[in-house]
Amino acid sequence: MKITRLSTFIVAPRWCFLKIETDEGISGWGEPVVEGRAHTVAAAVDELADYLVGKDPCNIEDHWTVLYRGGFYRGGAIHMSALAGIDQALWDIKGKALGQPVSQLLGGNVRDRIRVYSWVGGDRPADTAAAAQAAVARGFTAVKMNGPQELQYIDSHARIERCLENVQAVREAVGPHVGIGVDFHGRVHKPMARMLARELEPFRLMFIEEPVLSEHYEALREIALATSTPIALGERLYSRWDFRRVLAEGYVDIIQPDPSHAGGITETRKIAAMAEACDIALALHCPLGPIALAACLQIDANCYNAFIQEQSLGIHYNTTNDLLDYVSNREVFAYEDGMVRIPTGPGLGIEVNEDYVRERATVGHRWRNPVWRHADGSFAEW
Ligand SMILES: [Mg+2]
Repeated sequence: MKITRLSTFIVAPRWCFLKIETDEGISGWGEPVVEGRAHTVAAAVDELADYLVGKDPCNIEDHWTVLYRGGFYRGGAIHMSALAGIDQALWDIKGKALGQPVSQLLGGNVRDRIRVYSWVGGDRPADTAAAAQAAVARGFTAVKMNGPQELQYIDSHARIERCLENVQAVREAVGPHVGIGVDFHGRVHKPMARMLARELEPFRLMFIEEPVLSEHYEALREIALATSTPIALGERLYSRWDFRRVLAEGYVDIIQPDPSHAGGITETRKIAAMAEACDIALALHCPLGPIALAACLQIDANCYNAFIQEQSLGIHYNTTNDLLDYVSNREVFAYEDGMVRIPTGPGLGIEVNEDYVRERATVGHRWRNPVWRHADGSFAEW
């Protein structure tokens, strides 16, 4: 079997899909994207395609190695996301060729379903609480919400209190035993993060996420010492080499690599194994589309330390198209009892509705994240 063509499709709300075709009529799908940089990642896929066309798609490990190491410069969000989508599509092809789900090719399943959490939006406590209650009514046993809005290096306690009120409203709405993750979104600097982590402790959160940016991972030590709440991090780390430093420090409890950013299934599986050796849990990041989620579930099936999965059904970014619009076998992501079953079909287990993908790709998107500013006019992390 030989690879004949790689085609990318920029589709709403903010995604990029990749189709890899072969001379035997089997094709695979991947989701190479960085939110807000979809066209750049598509261009990187196009550059990497020169090497792949004419090659056997089943030699995934060797292709990964050449595409990672072979360009001299390596790593970072764009390169590793392009490589991620290619890797997912190659696994999809291999699974389809062998008639097996990817998780079977990785060694088989340690679980047949995984807990999922739902994003809850809303800026006012009453809105967030209502959204959380609605998620629980739909069967979710865990939710995630944003923590503070923009925060200066040193900011007023009023902003901390606003965040606490929001979390308190959610905790009261869902009761004591629903998991709540609070995402600091890397928008908080160390002094405020430490304070916030301590103040949030009484709400018995499932985790706090990106309490500081990944590049400030040394600051996690002080934050970890200020709270017993588990600390999650990793959506902005892209390889084993990026994660190695964070794992070695030992102050992270949950890593959140994104299989559409961190080199695909091949690399994320290895990162997960490194974390398992450090007794650190896995919660794959996935605010993306159906192919990315399908790739996540194949990894979740196979990784013992996975305990929960992010998914974007109804997430606040999806204002134009949602997760299920692009798949023909929509039942594959049916949630029950707060969990989703691991798809058992060949490859990634989803059937992409290619006609609809092509139709939406004629419209495309120019999604960009918002640019926030502090009251003094200076830039604020979103
Ligand atoms: Mg996050």
